[in-house]
Amino acid sequence: STDKKSDFGLIGLAVMGQNLVLNVESRGFQVSVYNRTPSVTDEFVAKHPGKKLVGCDTLESFVQSLAKPRKIQIMVKAGAAVDQVIEQLIPLLEKDDIVIDGGNSLYTDTERRDAYLTTKGLRFIGAGVSGGEEGARKGPAIMPGGPASTWEVMKPIFESISAHVDGQPCVIHIGPGGAGHYVKMIHNGIEYGDMQLICEAYSLFKAAGFTSAEMAAIFNEWNEGELQSYLIQITGKALEQKDPETGKPLVELILDKAGQKGTGQWTQLNAAENAVVISTINAAVEARVLSSQKKQRVTASTQLQGPTPALDKVKAELVAKVHDALYASKVISYTQGFDLIKTMGEKKNWGLDFGGIASIWRGGCIIRARFLNRITEAYRSEPQLANLMLAPFFKDLLNRTQQNWREVVALAVTNGIPVPAFSASLGYYDSYRSARLSANLLQAQRDFFGAHTYERTDKPEGQWFHTDWPEVI
Ligand code: NAP
Repeated sequence: STDKKSDFGLIGLAVMGQNLVLNVESRGFQVSVYNRTPSVTDEFVAKHPGKKLVGCDTLESFVQSLAKPRKIQIMVKAGAAVDQVIEQLIPLLEKDDIVIDGGNSLYTDTERRDAYLTTKGLRFIGAGVSGGEEGARKGPAIMPGGPASTWEVMKPIFESISAHVDGQPCVIHIGPGGAGHYVKMIHNGIEYGDMQLICEAYSLFKAAGFTSAEMAAIFNEWNEGELQSYLIQITGKALEQKDPETGKPLVELILDKAGQKGTGQWTQLNAAENAVVISTINAAVEARVLSSQKKQRVTASTQLQGPTPALDKVKAELVAKVHDALYASKVISYTQGFDLIKTMGEKKNWGLDFGGIASIWRGGCIIRARFLNRITEAYRSEPQLANLMLAPFFKDLLNRTQQNWREVVALAVTNGIPVPAFSASLGYYDSYRSARLSANLLQAQRDFFGAHTYERTDKPEGQWFHTDWPEVI
């Protein structure tokens, strides 16, 4: 009956909100729902008779329908809408009520809202929710940030609605304040990298003359091995898809212009601010930008020259080689992503559990993959690991794949096939493993024009030298 107060409330009944509500309800909770446009609420409740849903047409009745302390999740459009909903809620709430923002909010906004709501005596959780519509309905990966004591209150609901892998819920308390939305942002950046790397593998196969069916078979087979992941799986399925109108492989009919919603760029900005190298993710974001300049590319294609790809001779060995290039590049992308997470975590004193973060990404979210277990193992055995590449498993993997990886990059370069993420990853790998880089010359240049001084290989570190370089007019 409607006399019973609801266990949980959700504001914002678009695709994510509706699916999350059905998920929470299916775990035995009664859920109150509110949407700015009331007809959406009415239609949603009418569409699901017999479920423990309480539709509310006003925020007042919504708040009154909830058991205390109230647990209210906001799933509205990220940005100003979240602040508007919070402002409307504040006068209606009581001390210790909990407001959860489950949208893709920028972590700095979350920090601001957390501080603000705390001054109002309310509790706030900024939770990244990954997995799109299906994740929301069946079990997402959830990355909640906020005080540990608030997490404890929300834990039973979050653990029951999240995805589960090997019996473990795909949710942990990430850390205080904006930590949850921050980690979700990096998840999205890594997602950009994973997707671009798969697209580069595809572009090599395509140039070598593989048919869509052959390519689908390759990805399907990879999905049975070490590369097993949701993105590899859907790539195989996408390549199998036929266009009902023409009977042709659908992927070949899709315009090559990628969109983006900005979380990749947020990751880039944060990496730049922290001087962390995320070259694979950068290459992935930039690849989308260049793809969107379709008109310019079509013009340039008739004016700027390059080789005609001739890969038929290497076709047979290409599958195994590209596999290794993709796998190694993916390791680099995660290495960089975790380096950024670690750097920010230390700067913010978030006390992040890197192994735990990798483990909750194993289910529910877009980057879910078998390989994430290896990252968890690496951080479990060495929590302060400086660079993921140096963990035994990844070191062996990179040593085993690096030759094929560079052969693929070389092949792509000689054939004029763009592989910006493969090559950016390899550039990072080769730089990181170089005991001596060319920065000696760079320091000479800096000292030459700006008297910035340099250290010497034959003198103790910390001693700085300056040369009176010749005069240049
Ligand atoms: P959305 O299109 O981002 O937002 C639409 C919802 O926001 C509607 O319920 C709308 O209400 C409400 N809304 C917009 N402005 C409002 C305002 N000023 N006041 C009150 N309500 C307002 O919905 P979505 O795609 O379901 O995404 C929700 C959140 O989850 C976003 O932060 C999104 O980035 C994040 N997310 C989405 C996905 C995905 O796959 N879609 C995946 C992960 C995370 P009306 O019906 O009244 O317009």
